[in-house]
Amino acid sequence: MLQLSSDFVQQMISLLGEEEYNNFLQAIQEERITSIRTNPHKINTSCSDLEQVPWSRNGYYLSERPIFTMDPLFHAGCYYAQEASSMFVEQAILQHWDKLDSSEPLFLDLCAAPGGKSTLLSTLLNGKGWLVCNEVMKSRIGVLDENITKWGVPNVTITNNDPKELGQLDGLFDLILIDAPCSGEGMFRKDDKAIEDWSIDNVKLCSERQKRIVADVFPALKEGGLLIYSTCTYNAEEDEKNVQWIADHLGANILEIQTDEKWNISSSGIGYHFFPHKTKGEGFYLAILQKTADEETIRIKSPKQMPLATKAIVESCKNWLTATDNIYLMEKDKVVVYPSDWADTILFLKQNLHVIHNGLTLGTVKGKDMVPDTTLALSWLLNADEFSTYNCSWEEAIQYLKKVNLTLDGVEKGFVLFSFKGASLGFGKNIGNRCNNLYPSEWHIRMESSHDKYSEIL
Ligand code: SAM
Repeated sequence: MLQLSSDFVQQMISLLGEEEYNNFLQAIQEERITSIRTNPHKINTSCSDLEQVPWSRNGYYLSERPIFTMDPLFHAGCYYAQEASSMFVEQAILQHWDKLDSSEPLFLDLCAAPGGKSTLLSTLLNGKGWLVCNEVMKSRIGVLDENITKWGVPNVTITNNDPKELGQLDGLFDLILIDAPCSGEGMFRKDDKAIEDWSIDNVKLCSERQKRIVADVFPALKEGGLLIYSTCTYNAEEDEKNVQWIADHLGANILEIQTDEKWNISSSGIGYHFFPHKTKGEGFYLAILQKTADEETIRIKSPKQMPLATKAIVESCKNWLTATDNIYLMEKDKVVVYPSDWADTILFLKQNLHVIHNGLTLGTVKGKDMVPDTTLALSWLLNADEFSTYNCSWEEAIQYLKKVNLTLDGVEKGFVLFSFKGASLGFGKNIGNRCNNLYPSEWHIRMESSHDKYSEIL
């Protein structure tokens, strides 16, 4: 039996009524729901045998929770294990896409780690425009970087800044998503700690912090730009009242999102709630607003000098990509690629923010060699024809992901792209008697492996 605080029970009864509260209580004691969102840049097979998440084009429910770590396609970024309700971000953006004043917009995901909604935003951008994924907590940057890299997004910058620092970039972004830290009422089914930590005081504290976060970053949103505010909680202090506060005090219109009656999404007129006894997913709240307040737009100054890679370096690796109009820059010994049209903006971001990852890292210059990077192996822009590919069995793929040096019979010496069921995992360097494993040490699988733990999802 869940040990819910009596204040929480009271709050939910006044929100739902006694009868519906009982349904809610039952729902949060049931098995949690597992869902995934596939990566259309990596998966072109149909998932018709899986139940679709109705508000998402690439979202699917799984009948049970597999051990994702044992599936090489999970590490290849072919899908992301994302909670179904969160995928509603897609509806909010697609239904209001025509309000963005550029076909190549600049998006900011302010509270991005571990990266679920960032991977969704990048899919919606589909390689156009640019996405800045920010996370203020240093300890959560690594997992964000790993998830974004595995997803294969080339048009991305990852930053580690306080919202206030981003707020200094006046009117820069076309869309800002604030998936705010909250009291986590919607996570009670899967997180006992959220139940333990809940209190009225904490709700108040969260609500104040959320207002501060939005106010701090709001100047960075263009006039007419879109703001998505979401939480995984139900109370009005953190949800409706905050959204009304944004509209009244910061200057924005609250927009509507069309929903199908069958989805059973609830709305009091300000934003949309997902309750676990009504929708198939965890608790979630989302509102979308359009900024009405006046905002100047900061001028992006072109840098005087760019650290361009030499002609010889560019020649050695320019065929590694399927995209052409690129600019090749050196970041220490690494070669990084941006689309030429975005170079000024990206370098401007670099001058003003604490940038962790920018664009697509092609490789590292080592003497006369260019060592291809894992980011390239996983990227949507990889030209796999340029590398000899080794198609792994499941056992070999898991060994590769454990950073074991494999012996590859009949494979030429040199760089080898490891692949599982057609999806790239990373590189190795075959020296004959063994293939040196170039998979990043910080990502390697530590779990004891056995084929019994593997369920084929796609
Ligand atoms: N959007 C993420 C996703 O879909 O995977 C989940 C984000 S989680 C709900 C909220 C994030 O806000 C956490 O990563 C947390 O570190 C960050 N955060 C906590 N305090 C913050 C603050 N004061 N300002 C900005 N972000 C904060």
